[in-house]
Amino acid sequence: MGRAFVYVIVGGGVAAGYAAHEFVKRGVSRGELCIISEETVAPYERPALSKGYLFPEAPARLPSFHCCVGTNEERLAPKWYKEHGIELILGTRVKSADVRRKTLLTATGETISYKYLIVATGARALKLEEFGLNGSDAANVCYLRDLADADRLVNVMKSCPGGNAVVIGGGYIGMECTASLVLNKLNVTMVFPEAHCLARLFTPKIAKYYEEFYQSKGVKFIKGTVLTSFDFNSDGKVTAVNLRNSGKLLVDMVVIGIGIRPNASLFEGQLTMEKGGIKVNGKMQSSNSSVFAVGDVAAFPVKVVGETRRLEHVDSARKTARHAVASIMEPGKTGDFDYLPFFYSRVFTLSWQFYGDNAGEVVHFGDFSGSSFGAYWIHKGHLVGSFLEGGTKEHYEAIAWATRLKPEIKDLSELERQGFDFALSLRQKPPSSGPNDIGGGLGLIVEKPSYAWHATAGVIVAASIAAFAYWYGRRRRLW
Ligand SMILES: Cc1cc2nc3c(=O)[nH]c(=O)nc-3n(C[C@H](O)[C@H](O)[C@H](O)COP(=O)(O)OP(=O)(O)OC[C@H]3O[C@@H](n4cnc5c(N)ncnc54)[C@H](O)[C@@H]3O)c2cc1C
Repeated sequence: MGRAFVYVIVGGGVAAGYAAHEFVKRGVSRGELCIISEETVAPYERPALSKGYLFPEAPARLPSFHCCVGTNEERLAPKWYKEHGIELILGTRVKSADVRRKTLLTATGETISYKYLIVATGARALKLEEFGLNGSDAANVCYLRDLADADRLVNVMKSCPGGNAVVIGGGYIGMECTASLVLNKLNVTMVFPEAHCLARLFTPKIAKYYEEFYQSKGVKFIKGTVLTSFDFNSDGKVTAVNLRNSGKLLVDMVVIGIGIRPNASLFEGQLTMEKGGIKVNGKMQSSNSSVFAVGDVAAFPVKVVGETRRLEHVDSARKTARHAVASIMEPGKTGDFDYLPFFYSRVFTLSWQFYGDNAGEVVHFGDFSGSSFGAYWIHKGHLVGSFLEGGTKEHYEAIAWATRLKPEIKDLSELERQGFDFALSLRQKPPSSGPNDIGGGLGLIVEKPSYAWHATAGVIVAASIAAFAYWYGRRRRLW
């Protein structure tokens, strides 16, 4: 049994949805494109799972968050794929790939051949068993990577109202799940080995702000330790969490967020790997010219930091996907991907964005006792990364712009004094040949920018109005 397509996407998550959208925009013909996904639903905006999906009131449910609503574009419900003649093979795992023969074998025994393959298999949550522990299968232990996990988490939360939850892991998933558990009125303790939350990105000062905010919502933190074992009852449910040198916590439920691993094993030994994922060039093309990789599974050259990186964020999934399709369909017109790394998170009433790279020295700015503050990272005399909490759309655009420009910074204390106004001043006075697209533009590096050091009152008033509009709009966003 077999079928042949011109284009096949393996994996049906965020990147697959955006790739399909791009294929259609670029005039793919009916019957040429197929998506094979282990999940049983059409591609959706995965970040919704730890945010709107877990709301106690009016939670987000499909079809409301199918791709590409996360970028305010059309929503690709299953009907959309049908209308465009795209074959959506759902609930089907690809169990092997042969890049020499250009074929995939599915778990249902079907062989699917392609001319071009896009690998969009994302990543999977790391399991306790991979750290020598057990208990992942217990009915009240939850992970959060896909819709099935999210449904399970919702059911477990509902089964223990007012109960005690322990979240293992202080990264994105841990932080976002904790906020959702609190909104669902559980008593939450976060446990992680690092000295503070989101240690891969946050400075101690930034982390302190979020930890204090979480504490004001009743969250307890136990840091510098790890889970060593669970106690179980006769039904196999976890009743307590045992910590190294930190005693025992009685629990009604546990959420595990201890990291992810890219789903690259189908191609091991066939494609060049890097950073645990599939190595691609600036066209998102792997070591086999017919195979492209995008999203969490792809390690691609990030020009702005001068390194190959594998990013685990939704914006990168969306943009690498679109770029791969452009490279395949219009190779002559498509240059190398030039991406400014971007991540964000929203928890409770808080919302932050980060652009660039968190390397080098840090300069904090703003009011850490209020609701808006940020940080710049300065590496080798240039601003390479920016973080902002509580900004408006215009504010975030300004820090993105400033980071993309990579301005030379001679005086850190002057930068600290200027704070956010520094980014705003660059935004106000773009250089005549500045970047035209902060997320994937020209990547121009301004060595000696001429700064307008002071924001005008007019811009501040406009920003305040925009702030209200953005805040109001944000209240309704679920992903
Ligand atoms: C709960 C949650 C919240 C998040 N929130 C944020 C956020 O706030 N901000 C942010 O920047 N990023 C966030 N992320 C990260 C973001 O969602 C990912 O970076 C993004 O989904 C990656 O897209 P992808 O298409 O590469 O992989 P995925 O979206 O994970 O899709 C991979 C797909 O491939 C399928 N698949 C894998 N192997 C096979 C196989 N062998 N055969 C068939 N199908 C297969 C999977 O089932 C899945 O459908 C979040 C992630 C999670 C899990």
